[in-house]
Amino acid sequence: MSETSRPISPGAEEELNKVYKVHEAGEVELVDYLGSDNTVARAARTSYQRDNGKSEEADRRLILRLWRDRHTSPFEMIQLTFRIRLPIFVMRQHVRHRTASLNEWSFRYTECPDLFYVPGQDDVRSQHSTNKQMSGDTLPDDVSSRARTLIEGLNHHAYSVYGQLMELGVAREQARVVLPVSAYTQIVWSIDMRNLLHYFSLRLAPDAQKEIRDYAVIMARIAKKGWPMVWEAFESTRPAP
Ligand SMILES: Cc1cc2nc3c(=O)[nH]c(=O)nc-3n(C[C@H](O)[C@H](O)[C@H](O)COP(=O)(O)OP(=O)(O)OC[C@H]3O[C@@H](n4cnc5c(N)ncnc54)[C@H](O)[C@@H]3O)c2cc1C
Repeated sequence: MSETSRPISPGAEEELNKVYKVHEAGEVELVDYLGSDNTVARAARTSYQRDNGKSEEADRRLILRLWRDRHTSPFEMIQLTFRIRLPIFVMRQHVRHRTASLNEWSFRYTECPDLFYVPGQDDVRSQHSTNKQMSGDTLPDDVSSRARTLIEGLNHHAYSVYGQLMELGVAREQARVVLPVSAYTQIVWSIDMRNLLHYFSLRLAPDAQKEIRDYAVIMARIAKKGWPMVWEAFESTRPAP
């Protein structure tokens, strides 16, 4: 590892460049970060012109109190950058978090890879009986199989038409109009800790769609390992499941 004078987080260093799989073709990887738990405490102490150099336990107590009092700006001093491969329908939810910065694969420059989301056999769900936006229980095996076959068939056909359009000479930027929202895209997504915790509060919640929750769960594990005091503070105010 190259030497640095920057504050580092040992947990985040261990997580850097580890690729986590989500579903069959999704991926999450922490590619960069800035700041440690101590960064939050140090930033907060500037409010009352105190020096850093306190104990870890003092940092921990301060971070807990900051979060509880919603003194959230010191949490913005930490920044995380992920590479995420995700289906377009999950991307549409992800991109609503406007406080993040992102850069996406361009299917104008490059061809879309033959990667499509298909729910797992145990993950084809019924429509929820009362909540109009949620899914309910897993469907019986035979229904799941039929649904998966339909989805796979559509994905295959769409990709074939996409290829045929380009063979005809149609530009990549136009050929992509036939790709379904199950097609995978990839982003570099950078967000500060305060807004990442807000993302978690929405996307780890039971009413979030399971497919985006699966991504949030992995990012939350990384955040917990890299910034354990911040995570403890976040957990301390979360409603019980
Ligand atoms: C369960 C669930 C269901 C949803 N359903 C739908 C849906 O049916 N249709 C739909 O379009 N979206 C839907 N969304 C997306 C939702 O409306 C938000 O856009 C998304 O969750 C991002 O939240 P946010 O705006 O708080 O986050 P961010 O965009 O990261 O913003 C963080 C915070 O910054 C502040 N902020 C950001 N931008 C502004 C602004 N322009 N003005 C004032 N304050 C701002 C707000 O305090 C905001 O909470 C859903 C989200 C969830 C979790």
